[in-house]
Amino acid sequence: MAETVLDVGLDNIKGIGPKTKQKLIDGGIDSVLGLAVALPKEVEEVLGGKEESASKLIFSARQHLESQGLLGKEFILASEALQKRKEMKRIVTGSKSLDDLLLGGVETQSITEFFGDFGSGKTQICHTLCVTCQLPSDQGGLGGGAIYVDTEGTFRPERLVQIAEAKGLDANEILQKVVLCKVYNSNHLELVVRGLSRFIEKFNARLLIIDSIISLHRAEFIGRGTLANRQQRLNSLVHRLLRLAEIFNIAVVVTNQVQSKPDTFFGDPTRPAGGNVIAHACTYRIYLKKSGPQRIATIVDSPCHPYSDTRFQITENGVEDISAQK
Ligand code: ATP
Ligand code: MG
Repeated sequence: MAETVLDVGLDNIKGIGPKTKQKLIDGGIDSVLGLAVALPKEVEEVLGGKEESASKLIFSARQHLESQGLLGKEFILASEALQKRKEMKRIVTGSKSLDDLLLGGVETQSITEFFGDFGSGKTQICHTLCVTCQLPSDQGGLGGGAIYVDTEGTFRPERLVQIAEAKGLDANEILQKVVLCKVYNSNHLELVVRGLSRFIEKFNARLLIIDSIISLHRAEFIGRGTLANRQQRLNSLVHRLLRLAEIFNIAVVVTNQVQSKPDTFFGDPTRPAGGNVIAHACTYRIYLKKSGPQRIATIVDSPCHPYSDTRFQITENGVEDISAQK
């Protein structure tokens, strides 16, 4: 019997012969889990068949994992849900005030989105989290590594060294537990995210970063005619991320750009890019603004946090409280 959910091979599913199996693997679906979390449309695309039979395969995959006790049941009692929430952990950000805004830090089982203008600190927060997530739990970390999916080519290992050393940590050890994945276009990003479960397990990652989530799709899908397709693909992307967060109890952090909304007369005319698709999937959205050397973080969308904002700063040491260097 398979030890973990990842070890369950596609052969276990009725209706998957060698040919189908190969097609699925070629399409990036290489395990029963991969199939269970796939969308009918995409399985259909991979197999070139009817969506109905794709749905059946996905259903069988889920059933199989459930019958093996490897996956949470679809229907759970609120008491069980509470238990699952109790397994939820948080990663400190390096700034006490930013942690307070997040009620303790970045949560597992959720997607946290940081959005803001260029230079507002999104990438710096991601770098700091790569270090803090490795701290032991009594220091606010998860004692595990990070996977950093870089779509903008702005990942800098030197920054990890600086941030780690500022915290008195062994920089070499920190670097050993951060896995970088550079992606070059939207197809590549989708493919990488599809195959992530394997790497989360392999590298004992407790944090997954996508910096940034929609820049590639935004750059490639230009013009009104392509919008629906773009949104559909972003939709499956973020929902897959959410499922990974839940299944593996990891924190998923994504960054996003802002787009200006010229028809706003009052308040801030900027919005995170990606529209409703991103808005619905992200559990927490934090708006970052530059204010001189300081940063203002505002929590704009959360199922349980009150609307509030706070200030912190970005220094050589990463994310810090403003008082830290006074
Ligand atoms: P973009 O949308 O362009 O990706 P971003 O929100 O990711 O922007 P960051 O790269 O996180 O922006 O922030 C860049 C800012 O972080 C710099 O302008 C600088 O103020 C600060 N910063 C970066 N590195 C250091 C450092 N070593 N010491 C102090 N501040 C730094
Ligand atoms: Mg950036």
